[in-house]
Amino acid sequence: MQIANNAVVQIHYTLKNDAGEVLDSSDGSDPLAYLQGHGNLIAGLEKALEGKKVGESLTVTIPPEEGYGVRDENLVQDVPRTAFEGVPNVEVGMQFHADSNHGPRTVTVTKIADDTVTVDGNHPLANQTLHFAVDIVEVRAATSEELAHGHVHGAGGHHH
Ligand code: ZN
Repeated sequence: MQIANNAVVQIHYTLKNDAGEVLDSSDGSDPLAYLQGHGNLIAGLEKALEGKKVGESLTVTIPPEEGYGVRDENLVQDVPRTAFEGVPNVEVGMQFHADSNHGPRTVTVTKIADDTVTVDGNHPLANQTLHFAVDIVEVRAATSEELAHGHVHGAGGHHH
């Protein structure tokens, strides 16, 4: 069966940046399971996998626009330290969930001053051209429950 919308797909993958450094990989763990056509993966990767079959391997280069986005300096904000009152030790690199004008986002602390904390709502991989090497391990039809939830259940997926 070919990868098409509503297929449950399992892949092994390695993600590298332009410098050839490995950013992420499923090596040594279970394959990643996702539901094609439901935004589980970045757009560029879903597009490249469309129509492929079990056993196929591919390498794909994805521009930021179809990956984790183009950096937006408006997403960098100074917030008062008092906003972090419930957090005992705020440190650079910590991530928080925040509501923004652009909907819920993960923000990363990038700077700490006496009265303010600088947070960056850009994805850590924003502006990066992504180089994926992918092996397709399994393709099957989704169950009606998986389709209703918009994600995979069972091996490699969500458990309810
Ligand atoms: Zn579910």
